[in-house]
Amino acid sequence: MAVTGSDSVLELDQLTVAYFRAPVVRDLTLTVGRGEVVALLGANGAGKTTTLRAISGLLKPASGAVRLDGADLAGVSPTARTRLGLAHVPHDRGIFFGLTVAEHFRLDGLNSQAEMDAAFDHFPALRELRGRKAGLLSGGEQQMLAIARALSRKPKLLMLDEMSLGLAPVIVDRLLPAVRAAATGHGTGVLLVEQHVHLALKIADRGYILSHGELAASGSAGELSKDSALLAASYLGETGGSGLSSGRARRRGQICRSRPSQCGARSVRLRIFPLGLRGSASTMSTVLGHL
Ligand code: ATP
Repeated sequence: MAVTGSDSVLELDQLTVAYFRAPVVRDLTLTVGRGEVVALLGANGAGKTTTLRAISGLLKPASGAVRLDGADLAGVSPTARTRLGLAHVPHDRGIFFGLTVAEHFRLDGLNSQAEMDAAFDHFPALRELRGRKAGLLSGGEQQMLAIARALSRKPKLLMLDEMSLGLAPVIVDRLLPAVRAAATGHGTGVLLVEQHVHLALKIADRGYILSHGELAASGSAGELSKDSALLAASYLGETGGSGLSSGRARRRGQICRSRPSQCGARSVRLRIFPLGLRGSASTMSTVLGHL
């Protein structure tokens, strides 16, 4: 395992990931620093989950490199990656409905009272629920358990895949500060895939937007959250055909790459005036809900 000197906890270097030889993530280069929260954004099918699965070793990249703390992870098993400090909370949360909250922590090797207390400190509401089976928890409580389990391993990198799935924004708003606290307080790097874009950018330092498997834009969370048109266009997979010219975005230093011909091929029908975008009524109402 080659190690390079770097300040980044995670580096993706021109990562390409394919299913059955068809690339769905192409030449993706991104970094997550120590103590940094980075949002990975993009429309359904953009390749976000695939990227996380390649980082955790569940998928083998077709080309490119994944480095954790400077160490190239090529050939390192998912289990070994976990031992090296990588924690991945998938969108199904990876919990066992028949086990209680406390049993989950014991399963993770937290045996002493001090270790249990530290795990509960991430979400104090879980303390009262220690004897309850995970299957009887609410969606938000299950997500607390999933995140607390991941954080109790003191990971170098925490990857959260759509932690908000099935949760009301108000619940997500309660979960995200614990993620920010882990980054700020413990130096954990966080890669956050999240549909509630503005909630994610509220706690993130930086963001990357994937479109059709390629990096469409990147920037500070502040810059990205101000650019509603860019975000909405990205969520339609329309970075090239939305009225946002790639030249304009390049001038801002945000757009890294786009394929107007490919993106522009998507159907566009109804004009959405506040954003200057076009799209079908149902799609646009979904997008606006996320924004
Ligand atoms: P979502 O937000 O909907 O989960 P995503 O950005 O996470 O989207 P991925 O799940 O990474 O997107 O999927 C990227 C592309 O790869 C999609 O076109 C999807 O249909 C395809 N894909 C995902 N999993 C597989 C698989 N196991 N086999 C073949 N193709 C797949």
